[in-house]
Amino acid sequence: MTAIRLPTALPPPGTVLGAAPHRTEDSAAYRDGGGYGTATGPRELLAHLTASGLRGRGGAAFPAAVKLRSVRDAGGSPVVVANGEEGEPGSAKDRWLLRARPHLVLDGLARAAAVTGAVRGYVYLSDPVAGASVRAALAEHPPPLPVEVVETGHAYVAGEETAVVRRIDGGPALPTAKPPRPYERGVGGAPTLVSNVETLARIALTAARPRLRDAVARTTLVTLSGAGAPPVLTEVPYGTPLRALARRYGTPDAAGALMGGLFGGLVGAGALDLPLEPDALAAAGTALGCGAVRFLGPRECPVAAAADAAAHLAAESARQCGVCVTGTAAVAGALGALAAGTAGPDTAQSLLRWARGLPGRGACGLLDAAAGLAGSLLRAFPGPVRAHLTAPCPGCAQTAPPDGRRLAVAVPEPAAAPHADGAPVPAGPTDIPLPLLKGTP
Ligand code: SF4
Repeated sequence: MTAIRLPTALPPPGTVLGAAPHRTEDSAAYRDGGGYGTATGPRELLAHLTASGLRGRGGAAFPAAVKLRSVRDAGGSPVVVANGEEGEPGSAKDRWLLRARPHLVLDGLARAAAVTGAVRGYVYLSDPVAGASVRAALAEHPPPLPVEVVETGHAYVAGEETAVVRRIDGGPALPTAKPPRPYERGVGGAPTLVSNVETLARIALTAARPRLRDAVARTTLVTLSGAGAPPVLTEVPYGTPLRALARRYGTPDAAGALMGGLFGGLVGAGALDLPLEPDALAAAGTALGCGAVRFLGPRECPVAAAADAAAHLAAESARQCGVCVTGTAAVAGALGALAAGTAGPDTAQSLLRWARGLPGRGACGLLDAAAGLAGSLLRAFPGPVRAHLTAPCPGCAQTAPPDGRRLAVAVPEPAAAPHADGAPVPAGPTDIPLPLLKGTP
């Protein structure tokens, strides 16, 4: 069960969670909160985004204003895409956002179109519940440009920006080599903005409340999980120490964390003093990524956590780059053997070689994530690695082999709101009731 926890220090209207995250917001409620307003024009909005330094929330943390300007200046008839396909297994924020606040995302998409001069837009997603919510919102409040919902299968690489373009163009949702990047040549060959849905939500919030632009830019959704506790979706300011998040999550004695979904690798307990902020985390050799943080419980084995994550990545390899097929499988096999206590004496050396030699050699970041897991485990947890070379720890000896499925978190299901046609948003079969926890402990 994934709970939503409203931040006490960040009241709406400047938050993406909003005042009622347990319910799908209709267009009347969205307009009442200042949405779809016309006071902030495209040029002014771009100036606000430049001044606030808003960074993308899909994983790369690229400055939003730079990306918008690149698409605008590329010429032709641009296209804008709201990317709601979150492939990281520990993240639920994007699907929740599309389910609960579709108008906030669509408003952001329309504003991005106005800034770039785009002539059409897409909402790209895999979650059928989110798709129904977005379609209902489009019917309720038609956007100022044609917007189509494109569905894909849920996969780790399906949200990578070149995979998004390829799928919208009718191909498989698999990454392609770069360059060209989508801002140069994207959907149908046009300059294309592929923007994470939380980034678009923050663009819409900036337009509605320009005076809050800095707070909007320096706040982020995070999905917290692990340590045997129910996952939590919440919103926190950049700079919040990871240790404070662990305390709030109920794991004050966390042994470390798996960062950024899987992309930031493992960090040890000492790194929990780091602030949750993209540049600070990157400087420390990890990453905020999509904002998913999986804490390790005090007695949880980091070798098993790394083996689980690598097993997930190996299963999700799109199998189109030879080095990824063999490299990811090799990392997963070595970490699985290490967790089981059956690894050979050269395993640590092999993991170190792959950690140094594999990054940058695949068409997307999946191979980098596998290599990063291996390197971060060796760096942050040398003791458990050494111990596992001779025998599994008691916890690993009792648990099933790694399969990656233990990393997944469920998406909160907002209560359906009646839409213009009177039809409620249907609930998906895998959804769960959403308890709303007000405030923070
Ligand atoms: S690196 Fe791996 S997942 Fe990425 S495109 Fe190549 S084969 Fe697919």
